[in-house]
Amino acid sequence: MPPKVYKNYIKGEWVEARCGKGFENLNPADKNDVVGLFPASDKCDLDAAVDTAKQAFKSWRLVPPPKRAEVLFRAAQVLVERKEELARDMTREMGKVLRETRGDVQEAIDMGFYMAGEGRRLFGQTTTSELPHKFAMSIRQPIGVVGVITPWNFPLAIPAWKIFPALVAGNTVVFKPASDTPLSAYHLVKILNEAGLPKGVLNLVTGSGGAVGVSLMTHPDVGVITFTGSTEVGREVSKACAPDFRHCHLEMGGKNIILVMEDANIDLALDGALWGGFGTTGQRCTAASRLGVHKKIYKQFVAKFVERAKNLKVGNGLDPSVEMGPCINDRQAQSVHNYVGIGKNEGAQLLCGGEPLTGGEYDLGAFYAPTIFGDCHPKMRIAQEEIFGPVVSVIPFESFEEAIEIANGVVYGLSSSIYTRDVNRVFTAMRDLSTGIVYVNAPTIGAEIHLPFGGTKQTGNGHREAGTAALDVFTEWKAVYVDFSGALQRAQIDTHT
Ligand code: NAD
Repeated sequence: MPPKVYKNYIKGEWVEARCGKGFENLNPADKNDVVGLFPASDKCDLDAAVDTAKQAFKSWRLVPPPKRAEVLFRAAQVLVERKEELARDMTREMGKVLRETRGDVQEAIDMGFYMAGEGRRLFGQTTTSELPHKFAMSIRQPIGVVGVITPWNFPLAIPAWKIFPALVAGNTVVFKPASDTPLSAYHLVKILNEAGLPKGVLNLVTGSGGAVGVSLMTHPDVGVITFTGSTEVGREVSKACAPDFRHCHLEMGGKNIILVMEDANIDLALDGALWGGFGTTGQRCTAASRLGVHKKIYKQFVAKFVERAKNLKVGNGLDPSVEMGPCINDRQAQSVHNYVGIGKNEGAQLLCGGEPLTGGEYDLGAFYAPTIFGDCHPKMRIAQEEIFGPVVSVIPFESFEEAIEIANGVVYGLSSSIYTRDVNRVFTAMRDLSTGIVYVNAPTIGAEIHLPFGGTKQTGNGHREAGTAALDVFTEWKAVYVDFSGALQRAQIDTHT
């Protein structure tokens, strides 16, 4: 059967790219399986989408927020109904195991219901005035057209984290998903359309970062760019938005760490290290790609960790017994393999894995063995740079202070974790770890949608998504003063004569 052909969504219509070109979306577990053909759009398509979103903003901003929220609520209900189908399609297009893709859809559901609630909140403040017969308040205002640029590792959750708050706040959206996961993007847009979103409010344009992404981030009519992806591309987004001060919200790379102290519950920490390191094949921005272990328990802990990693079942994520899927594509698997070479050359001890998996079904996909490097120095490249694959670098340490220093000694600042039973260390770590997210006795992954999500240093640019913090990205504060004295009252002057 020929692969299904998908289209862009612009002005409430499903349309082909004007150039008529397309690209294939391949299943990373089976490259003979073409998931679909998607439009390879260019600047023309993008411009049409932005123009439409600009027009639609004029009316969408005036729709009462509780009405906007009803669309999100209905969309979340449809996501619930189709959860299994969406999860299966997601596993097929990006490889992570079904249990995890169900979780990805659930994040979008949670965010839909949560942001629907914001339709009846979007709180500002009423406050006092220093002058008599005067009223003062602050209100949130939508900004305009929001450009959404997303990665492939959370194909529904991340777009939902951006699109739902942007819409409930009264903005319109042009959405450019990653080219490895356009099917999940298509599903989300279709569902929002079915839920009753007016034409032009949400537009989907698929295609490369170089063509569609660049055109979106440089478009003068786009008021906000919200980007999740690599630090390298995030830097480009930041530069593109800087000349005319358009807002940009960046969520980028990570080099997260789990610290295991000598008093930790070893079995609990092992479970966490395994899930944090190899969940989603290590392709999470919050993946625990570094593991710091106290020297007193190092030998015993690492031996058990290696044993557990070797026994992980790797394969097609649609098989319920599989624990780890493939890398997203051959390029990513090759990049992982290059880092393994770097680790060996740096003198780290390869304890398991270190090779692509071959033979049988493995030859069809981009499978890589769970890989662990021991005795890493914290300044080695494999302990500093984001690998984004199933590779964990284990670093021994001698004291709590050294552990915190190692944890903070990278350019990224997304997530960190500590396993200990010492309450004083827990609170010190909560204070001193320099990441945007800290876990205690849990791995570096597992964010919940009602708390702020994002990172410090080169992981982010000071914004947060999720929680009510997300609304700060998609709204401008407006301070409003109403003087009902009937006379000119001068702040700071008439109050101090
Ligand atoms: P990427 O930076 O290659 O691509 C992200 C998006 O940007 C894609 O849609 C891509 O097409 C687009 N893009 C690429 N080049 C562009 C350009 N020059 N101009 C505009 N857009 C462009 O990232 P990826 O490989 O899709 O995702 C992996 C990265 O995402 C990792 O670094 C990971 O840590 C990061 N990530 C971060 C978070 C977070 O919340 N901090 C979450 C998930 C993923």
